[in-house]
Amino acid sequence: MNSDPRARLPSVSQMLAHANIGRLIGAYGRTAVLDALRDALELSRTAGSLQPRDVDGIIDSARSSLEGAEARLVQRVINATGIVLHTNLGRAPLSEAARAAVADATGPSSVEYDLTTGARGSRTAYSSELVARLCKAPSATVVNNGAAALVLAVAALAAGREVIVSRGELVEIGGSFRLPDIIGASGARLVEVGTTNRTNVDDYRAAIGPNTAMILKVHRSNFLQVGFVADTPIARLVELARSSGILLVHDLGSGLIEQGGDDLQALDEEPAVADSVAAGSDIVIFSGDKLLGGPQAGIIAGTAELVQRCRRHPLARVTRIDKLQLAALEVTLLQHLRGTATDDVPALSLLRTPAAALAARASCIAVEVTAQIQAEASATVTSGSTETYVGGGSAPGKVLTGAAVNCAGIDAGALAAALRRQTPPVIGRIAHDVVVIDLRSVPPHEDAAVTRALVDSILSVCASIPQ
Ligand SMILES: *Cc1c(COP(=O)(O)O)cnc(C)c1O
Repeated sequence: MNSDPRARLPSVSQMLAHANIGRLIGAYGRTAVLDALRDALELSRTAGSLQPRDVDGIIDSARSSLEGAEARLVQRVINATGIVLHTNLGRAPLSEAARAAVADATGPSSVEYDLTTGARGSRTAYSSELVARLCKAPSATVVNNGAAALVLAVAALAAGREVIVSRGELVEIGGSFRLPDIIGASGARLVEVGTTNRTNVDDYRAAIGPNTAMILKVHRSNFLQVGFVADTPIARLVELARSSGILLVHDLGSGLIEQGGDDLQALDEEPAVADSVAAGSDIVIFSGDKLLGGPQAGIIAGTAELVQRCRRHPLARVTRIDKLQLAALEVTLLQHLRGTATDDVPALSLLRTPAAALAARASCIAVEVTAQIQAEASATVTSGSTETYVGGGSAPGKVLTGAAVNCAGIDAGALAAALRRQTPPVIGRIAHDVVVIDLRSVPPHEDAAVTRALVDSILSVCASIPQ
């Protein structure tokens, strides 16, 4: 008998003969199962303890790693964080019509085909026309995302030349993407002016030289400055840029389509795209999901000649929008143009829901969950008011009052994990050992699923604790 425990490990072919393997292969495919078995075997071999594991143990370990891989798939979740435009959860939830358009575009679709003439068509001609109308701009184009729009505009309009930016606007967008690096990657040279808290028009004027291509004004979309601060209004920058023969490019990131009227109260301090265009910005840039509540997209709007230079730049192909995004974007733009976006676009209707309506729903859910867990569980489920933000690098400092279901008296980490294991997973947040299910970001039709998930998760956490 061999005394080395490793020799007692089963072989892959032994394991393939095991009764449970057929089901695993059916679910994950032969290659993935073989890889997982080899990894599990290897783990047993290299484990410090050198404990020989039986076939069942190795197959179990392979199964859980296969299930773990599945959990990394992009899958539908319920966003109960209270942050409507949550970048980690895919920002804006698309409208029904936009989802249907995406589903339609998954097959062969007229993405670059003109159905009238039967000839090759332009991928972005129609969406660009809709964007231009919406922004009241002479021309526009659409690309993959806001950062791509910025890179393309700087590369096409300022490569090899200087771009002037206020020191108060050298922002980090998130995920450690920083404006100075983006400008550098676009082949332009950044010229910083002013100070962190104050930049006036003379600071810009003094920095303009023979090699200056543009002033880039960047909206502080994800942070606030308060106190002894001053920056230069767009109108003054337009004046300066015109008289100096350079461009004024305005990166709004987020914001509003148009100020006034029936605009979103939650975003009422955000700058409006149409205002920037009307003030004379040569180019305005923004993000399609932040500003329109649509799919990820980047928008460049402005004069026909400059937009054309962006379209013709080689990076335009690199920053191209995908057909699925495009399908959703066209529908979302039409909803804005028809004036029905506040009802049709989920991000806008979620942000507009009155706090009282959220409070009524939270109370219903809390009562229902309490009734269903009463006998078995010690958790206390109540409703309460909350304060959240728009999110996604939009409207910093704008506090939205809403309502949440609060679960106390239970291991908060364990409950949050159990909620993430539900189908669909429910993503809440934890504050002071309380699991908070914030309804600001939950559409009403998901209340039943939230209730079910809470009951199930609370009972499973309580059952796993020895009484
Ligand atoms: C968010 C943002 C961007 C980037 O937009 P994405 O669509 O996220 O790529 C660029 N500039 C500003 C000011 C932003 O807020």
